[in-house]
Amino acid sequence: MCETFGVSQFRGQQEAIIKHVLNLGNSLVLMPTGMGKSLCYQLPALGMPGICVVISPLIALMKDQVAALQKKGLPAEFINSSLGKTERMERYAKLTSGDYKLLYVSPERFQKKEFLDAVSKQTVSLLAIDEAHCISQWGHDFRPDYTKISWFREVLGFPTTIALTATASKRVQEDILIQLGIDKDKIRIFDDGLFRPNLKLSVVDCFDTESKYNSILKDLEKSKGATIIYFSLIQELEKFSHWMDTKRKKHSVYHGKLSADRRNKVQSLFLKSEDGILLATNAFGMGIDKPNIRNIYHAQIPGSIESYYQEIGRAGRDGDPSFCKLYYCQDDLTVQMEFIEWQNPDLNYLKKLFTLLSQKQNELSGLDYGTLQSYMTFKNKGDHRIQTALTLLASRGLISGDLERGTLQIEGSWSDSIFSESELLDKKKENQKRLYQTVLYTKTEECRRKFIHEYFDSTFHGCGNCDLCLKAL
Ligand code: ADP
Repeated sequence: MCETFGVSQFRGQQEAIIKHVLNLGNSLVLMPTGMGKSLCYQLPALGMPGICVVISPLIALMKDQVAALQKKGLPAEFINSSLGKTERMERYAKLTSGDYKLLYVSPERFQKKEFLDAVSKQTVSLLAIDEAHCISQWGHDFRPDYTKISWFREVLGFPTTIALTATASKRVQEDILIQLGIDKDKIRIFDDGLFRPNLKLSVVDCFDTESKYNSILKDLEKSKGATIIYFSLIQELEKFSHWMDTKRKKHSVYHGKLSADRRNKVQSLFLKSEDGILLATNAFGMGIDKPNIRNIYHAQIPGSIESYYQEIGRAGRDGDPSFCKLYYCQDDLTVQMEFIEWQNPDLNYLKKLFTLLSQKQNELSGLDYGTLQSYMTFKNKGDHRIQTALTLLASRGLISGDLERGTLQIEGSWSDSIFSESELLDKKKENQKRLYQTVLYTKTEECRRKFIHEYFDSTFHGCGNCDLCLKAL
């Protein structure tokens, strides 16, 4: 069966987990990104009767995951909100007649009656919960729909359950068990740590932008294999790209302002390349499964350890030595601090925006971001608070629709108690704390891996592969 998946040797605790699942034991699996969590449920699913239902919040990835399984000749399918009604109905019919072995479903979908009707006609032997930290309100990516999972388990008749995540602090782990409704002694925790050992972590302190550019170039000259250089700002990415042109260093660029066509082209060329250099914003990477990315450089400090961890997790999935370097320049901090401002509009701003939208009720279909922004801010054209503020207003039912599609509508009326000022402030403080921790990561003098493990409150299994540990040798 391993040949089907192209696996000659198990990694970490994969084998023990698979055996445990096949013996009908429940598991909570903590395994670094890219190490191979999926195999832990995909392989047993094939050997168990009935089907395996996989709950995953990453709708954008489901299609690719399922396509990869289908390519291997495995009966897998997905059901989520991206499907039209006809297609969905066809899949429900196939589900009812037992055509699938692995069924991926989004958290909002498994609650629908039509889905429950179809799935209840099958024996569900295994329930896999991907990105299990989303079930916990202490996690960094809490999804309220995930809290219905214990109910769903009950509806399915308590199938063997495997929850998987790359990052879960002790508190999140405990919360996952509570939310799943499984007692501690009825589930085994498999903890493979946070990092694959082949990733070398290091930080390069840079005095200014110029010295940073030169350091990166010097490293690129020495390094081998495919490289991603992450930037926080498109503007800065473009500046660096021009500079690289003057140095005649070949590279490609990927960011949200390029057309979808262009992005797809850049992405597929990079995926095929052995030694390409890609300058990218965090728009690049979700669901990328390129095994031989040798270097992940961060040319600007990311906003949190969570995003840094996720981005460097794309390096060296083939297990070969790979390098994760963060070029830290104090000036870059301002960029992240501005992001935090944009992501956290205060009560006054929300009220002002809603009042403005209400006054312009009859012109809403003709409004665009630029115009709205010019009404709201006079000083800083680069202020992107509007996007966040519109999402917040929509989350409280004050507006509906989409500004860019011309379907924005007023749905409610303002009251100061709709938003809690202290909650808004707490969220902003939380973002600031995360950024501060990222700065501390660059300043730590002990061990980079240890720092990240402590940050996630995860068991530290030793390092020996960061600039600080290697220096101490
Ligand atoms: P995760 O969910 O942990 O981020 P995936 O399950 O997507 O990782 O696996 C990442 C890659 O590693 C996939 O291409 C998968 O086929 C591969 N893989 C998984 N287990 C093994 C193994 N034991 N040996 C070789 N490759 C593996």
